[in-house]
Amino acid sequence: MTSFPFTEAMPIQFQAPLPKASEVVVIGGGVIGVTTALFLARRKISVTLLEKGRIACEQSSRNWGWIRQQGRDAAELPIVIEAQRLWRQLAEECGQDIGLKQTGVTYLARTDKEMARFAKFLKIAEMHGVDTRLLDQGGTAKLIPAMSRTFKGAMTTPSDMRAEPWVAVPALARLAARHGVTIIENCAARMLDTAAGRISGVWTEQGRIATSNAVVASGAWTSLFLRAHGVSIPQLSVRATVAATAPMPEIHSGAVADEHIAFRRRHDGGYTLASGGASQLYVGPDAFRHATKYLPALMANPFGTHYLPAAPRGYPDSWSTPRRWNADEQSPFERMRILNPAPKASALRDMDREFRALFPQFETVPLKKSWAGMIDAMPDVVPIVDRAAEIPGLVIATGMSGHGFGIGPGMGRVVSDLVQGNEIGHNLHRFRQSRFSDGSSLELGPSL
Ligand SMILES: Cc1cc2nc3c(=O)[nH]c(=O)nc-3n(C[C@H](O)[C@H](O)[C@H](O)COP(=O)(O)OP(=O)(O)OC[C@H]3O[C@@H](n4cnc5c(N)ncnc54)[C@H](O)[C@@H]3O)c2cc1C
Repeated sequence: MTSFPFTEAMPIQFQAPLPKASEVVVIGGGVIGVTTALFLARRKISVTLLEKGRIACEQSSRNWGWIRQQGRDAAELPIVIEAQRLWRQLAEECGQDIGLKQTGVTYLARTDKEMARFAKFLKIAEMHGVDTRLLDQGGTAKLIPAMSRTFKGAMTTPSDMRAEPWVAVPALARLAARHGVTIIENCAARMLDTAAGRISGVWTEQGRIATSNAVVASGAWTSLFLRAHGVSIPQLSVRATVAATAPMPEIHSGAVADEHIAFRRRHDGGYTLASGGASQLYVGPDAFRHATKYLPALMANPFGTHYLPAAPRGYPDSWSTPRRWNADEQSPFERMRILNPAPKASALRDMDREFRALFPQFETVPLKKSWAGMIDAMPDVVPIVDRAAEIPGLVIATGMSGHGFGIGPGMGRVVSDLVQGNEIGHNLHRFRQSRFSDGSSLELGPSL
């Protein structure tokens, strides 16, 4: 944990030479890119994985580490069920402890309205055979007896899991490399190359790779990258703050959230905390461009987001970030190798206060680290996982909207089959790119 959060000071671990050609080039070394590359390599397909900073340096190491089925959109649920199975397999194959444990996820409710929301998900869970159940006041107190407050009830899924993201995703990358993936850190993809209207290569800061298939899994940078090629997706990113405590006595082994505090037991005996407070959107040109698409989400949760006038220099939607560049000049991606936002001080104060209020037996909460991440969001809170209509050979896998870690290996398997033109095994209609342009009315996914 000493080297976390990942920064450019961290040694480069993957520096394979840039190949001249690769059957597939994956752009972005987060959980989605890493697992996509892994599943492709298992089919003996040559894959190059490009990461502008370090593997998992952005969202994929900064997240809470919840691997949850609970509260998922109905279209995501079968994929996350598959992901749970894959996490178990991959954890074995990694040959390293990634902190994978089945300790459950629980959401606490203070009101009947929240309980009614939980009941809606319960029906979806039952349809898929997931062990989610609702607890009444007494059942909730029994599940987490150390809590000082009583709650109306809770929703809990005992089969949900957790893992340590900053350990797990680099371990998956090492596994992918062992399966033959060429991984190159500190190497931004600058532009796609096309011939006869389809992908013919990827320009990187180290030169060109010839390929007929590219996967853009670039997290918060995806819309900036795609827009330079005439592909517009309404993706924005919001800052979320997290803290880690030093080891503490165990009050619950799983992951728990209500609207004020979220906490998860970590492998090292500490807790990862987040406040229920709003995330922050830095308003930039894309925020204006896509504002109307976000109205339904805004109306559903008017206080869920705070607005800040401008992103720091170099951020994807900063006012000064170039929207166009040439393949032979420095791109915004290598100028900002790692998005490392400062944690929000008031969020840290809130989580300290709320955690102590819930567990007054802790007079102090020893916060040993704090960090923030930029969550890549879509207007309907579900991702785009699709072939790009505009450029044959291009697959988009982005916008995991704050819940892409747990589903990561499932999505990686899905994307690898999408690239190969195989049967996917899940219905991807909900994740189609065209839903934002074909007049479909947006169906908001759960922001549980
Ligand atoms: C604070 C926080 C808490 C979260 N909690 C959870 C949770 O508990 N459970 C859960 O399921 N999800 C959670 N999430 C969401 C989850 O972390 C993300 O959905 C997931 O990690 C997204 O993975 P990704 O691979 O799509 O993107 P990322 O992890 O962001 O990876 C994209 C990568 O692409 C690289 N890149 C970008 N552009 C280029 C380029 N041009 N060339 C080369 N490389 C490029 C970036 O450097 C980055 O490393 C949380 C997120 C945050 C920030």
